[in-house]
Amino acid sequence: MDLGLQGKVALVMAASKGIGRACAEALAAEGATIAVGSRNQEMLEQTAREIRERYGVPVLMRATDVRREADLAAIVNATIREYGRLDIVVNNAGGPPVGSFEQFDDAQWQAAFELTLLSTVRLIRLALPHLRQSGSGRIINIVSTSVKQPIAGLLLSNAIRPGVIGLAKSLSSELAPDNITINNVCPGRILTDRLRKGPGMQQKLDQGISEQEALKDLARDIPMGRLGQPEELASLVAYLSSSHAGYITGTTIQVDGGLVRSLY
Ligand code: NAD
Repeated sequence: MDLGLQGKVALVMAASKGIGRACAEALAAEGATIAVGSRNQEMLEQTAREIRERYGVPVLMRATDVRREADLAAIVNATIREYGRLDIVVNNAGGPPVGSFEQFDDAQWQAAFELTLLSTVRLIRLALPHLRQSGSGRIINIVSTSVKQPIAGLLLSNAIRPGVIGLAKSLSSELAPDNITINNVCPGRILTDRLRKGPGMQQKLDQGISEQEALKDLARDIPMGRLGQPEELASLVAYLSSSHAGYITGTTIQVDGGLVRSLY
């Protein structure tokens, strides 16, 4: 299927590795021109170079901390200066820290809000005039299955990520007259550094379990019987970015091998 992404410009955040990088690669593989932002300049440079070489598309990179509005404005402006348009925005960031209710003070709640929800609000606001001009703008937010089923030990994610869903659902109506779609994608357990270094893993490693066994353990309650690969999630992001997905908006779709048991 030709996704019709040639000539489109996609901005992908938190893209130096993991899910963000896989999304940038999936879009590049379809011929989209790419802009990537992430905090780590060195890793981001390497990612941009590798995507350029592998897919033969232009890749702009700029060190960006999604918590800083000035950084977001700078990368949007650089994208427009360099490519003259912006069609697709993938909102992504590192996840909020692990912990339970009594561990977090106001500052930590505020930080999680800024990282997870406010960064999404700000990037959409900055990108919006350009997405309107595109005529078929696409916004995709990478969230978590915590928006469908709270995850033990991830209180900040459980409490704040649903705000992104509310935002997207509201915007799906507001932006439909501009032919802009907005959708959320929920990673289940996807094999990235975040999962490898996450609390579930650390507990098992501390008990003396090998990394391989610990990863197998993490997959036990997943109906598909395995962890997901970042590319499996990125394929959905590429599809939602495409001309074929022009009638899909306001949805929240998990890529989780059946992990979430809820009906919705
Ligand atoms: P990862 O640790 O592999 O990669 C995270 C990326 O985010 C890196 O490129 C890092 O540089 C970047 N980043 C972190 N904070 C940033 C910031 N403030 N500004 C800009 N870039 C920043 O993680 P991942 O697995 O790719 O996770 C991506 C998102 O998906 C996270 O929000 C995570 O919580 C969520 N998620 C992942 C899983 C999973 O199983 N991997 C499950 C549920 C949710």
